[in-house]
Amino acid sequence: MLSLRNVKKDYVTGDTVVNALKGVSLDFRDNEFVSILGPSGCGKTTLLNIVGGLDRYTDGDLIINGVSTKLYSDGDWDAYRNHTIGFVFQTYNLIMHQTVLANVELALTLSGVSPKERKERAAAALERVGLGDQINKMPNQLSGGQMQRVAIARAIVNDPDIILADEPTGALDTQTSVQVMDILKEISKDKLIIMVTHNPELAEQYSTRIVRLSDGELISDTMPVTAGELESKGCIEQAVEAEKEEKPHKSRKNAKKKPSMSLFTALSLSLKNLLTKKARTVLVSFAGSIGIIGIALILSLSDGFQMYINKVQEDTLSGYPLTIEAETVDMSAMVSAMMGITSDDKNENKDPNTVYANNMMSKMLTSMMQQQVENNLKDFKKTLIENEDLKEKITAIKYTYDFTPQIYFDKDHPLNATKKCYQVSPSMVGEMVSMSSSMSNFGFAPWTEMLDNRELLESQYDLIGNSKWPESYNEVVIVVDKNEEINDYILYSLGLINPEEMYEMMQNLMAGKPIVEKEHKYTYDEILDISYKLMLQADYYKMSGNGYIPRTDDEILQIIDGTYTYAPGEEMATVIDIDVVGIIKPKEGVSATSVAGTVGYLSSLTERIIDLTNEKPIVTRQFNVPDRDVFSGLPFEADANAQYTLSMVDKYFMSALPDVTDTQASL
Ligand code: ADP
Ligand code: MG
Repeated sequence: MLSLRNVKKDYVTGDTVVNALKGVSLDFRDNEFVSILGPSGCGKTTLLNIVGGLDRYTDGDLIINGVSTKLYSDGDWDAYRNHTIGFVFQTYNLIMHQTVLANVELALTLSGVSPKERKERAAAALERVGLGDQINKMPNQLSGGQMQRVAIARAIVNDPDIILADEPTGALDTQTSVQVMDILKEISKDKLIIMVTHNPELAEQYSTRIVRLSDGELISDTMPVTAGELESKGCIEQAVEAEKEEKPHKSRKNAKKKPSMSLFTALSLSLKNLLTKKARTVLVSFAGSIGIIGIALILSLSDGFQMYINKVQEDTLSGYPLTIEAETVDMSAMVSAMMGITSDDKNENKDPNTVYANNMMSKMLTSMMQQQVENNLKDFKKTLIENEDLKEKITAIKYTYDFTPQIYFDKDHPLNATKKCYQVSPSMVGEMVSMSSSMSNFGFAPWTEMLDNRELLESQYDLIGNSKWPESYNEVVIVVDKNEEINDYILYSLGLINPEEMYEMMQNLMAGKPIVEKEHKYTYDEILDISYKLMLQADYYKMSGNGYIPRTDDEILQIIDGTYTYAPGEEMATVIDIDVVGIIKPKEGVSATSVAGTVGYLSSLTERIIDLTNEKPIVTRQFNVPDRDVFSGLPFEADANAQYTLSMVDKYFMSALPDVTDTQASL
């Protein structure tokens, strides 16, 4: 049983308010075919969207199976939309580049059903609407009536209790309309169908009950649900009780299982859509395309609720942005090369009684290199900056440069467990978590630049404790999850847990001893008290003779400490003090968040690092002799006649170098 209680909906645009619904009370039986009639603009679509959970009422209540939706969390709404409701729209909303079968299957991907079962159920649903022989066609090969039947198949494939249809025959001629209505009638035998229509004849002929709206109000109902029916369902009392309790748990109990998509589904969907990606970021693209698929799904399900789509799109894109890289690789070429690899070479030209290596790796890499394309990012960036039209359409742009901020924990800080100054960038933990570089793509890199759009950030995160948003380049925020937790792996990398503890854990693991979980907790104030030091990568090298050599770890730590004694004439290293000024946590109900790491810094820090680095003598010097490596003094372009060995390079790298301005490196 579904009940609307005095539901009001106001749309506010600028300073005008449209009262689209002015207090509608309606009950729907579990099993009937209701038509909603009324002139254009009277609130029919609004009513349907509210019933379907695509839009929220301003006042009143929607009671689903005796539970007030006032208590619904976003997750409850998602589950309701995905499992209880099927939508059919006037404009079909099919995905044009996917087959009829794939379009119907797509509605099941969020339900966590196996691919085999998905195919079977989609085929059965299509059979039911009389399209069993059309499943492999593309939507544009079908007539309007057939497309609408595909949409109906998609709506029923999940076996929802309720089908909502908004002018399903609005774009069809009379004859085709009748076919579609016959199918809806058939389905209504064991479901609730609520259909908005302009066509009173069809309503009369097919539905069991007609409800008329006018100007946001209910004006007639041919078969209202009686008080007796309501009571027998026990709906009234339950709803009132639920309301009294005012606890969100009550509704959760009733919610069906959350939508889920297996990694494999996501992967195969992604592969279909996004084959062209650079190898290193393939995994990230998969994650990203889940977002895009999500958008496609929502688009196909919830037309008429543009605001919601825009928000989801914005959130999803900020979590999985469109990324344009300096180089791209055609992955499909690589995959096809891999497929062909076992079969090419026949046994010609091979010695008998001999086993040969199949050079799969080198073939794969060769084909990858051949497909590598360089993007002209310099001009692209210029276009982005100059094009005014583009700016309005873009939420935020982040320019990523190929460096990792080198961060150190302040040794005097009370939270510093070891009382030693040590580096806290990901490399420290990277030793132990060997996958760390690829993991960093999944948001395990603690330090990340935030998007340059405060409004967007504020819409996704709440500040907690005595926090503020960073304003200056050397201010950062710590990101906690919605339970106000930070995982221990990150805490090690942030310098908040002594790395010794992790080594100990590893040792216990090796020795087969049990691993003891320790509790770590920090007050907001303690976290806000944290400060870090950042060292420029250029300062990891110092002048020696005519070239540059790397500094030792001890020297670097002394520089951070401020205890290092500079040699006469030695260039001072730059150390930036970084302050934690805020703790942010994702807002309730935000579908995706934009800060992937745990420490968020401003783009002005990146700019500052670039500016400071550009002033470093080592950089100026490299610019002055662009064809020679400033460290080794060797030319960048390999000289075909010269023979370099590893030990030669090593020797020159580690000791005083020949002056790079010499016309010839004295090798
Ligand atoms: P119907 O489907 O009966 O034609 P709607 O439910 O679409 O009517 O719209 C009812 C009223 O609400 C109309 O006046 C319409 O202009 C207004 N309305 C609908 N959606 C919005 C919106 N997103 N923002 C502002 N006004 C809206
Ligand atoms: Mg409408």
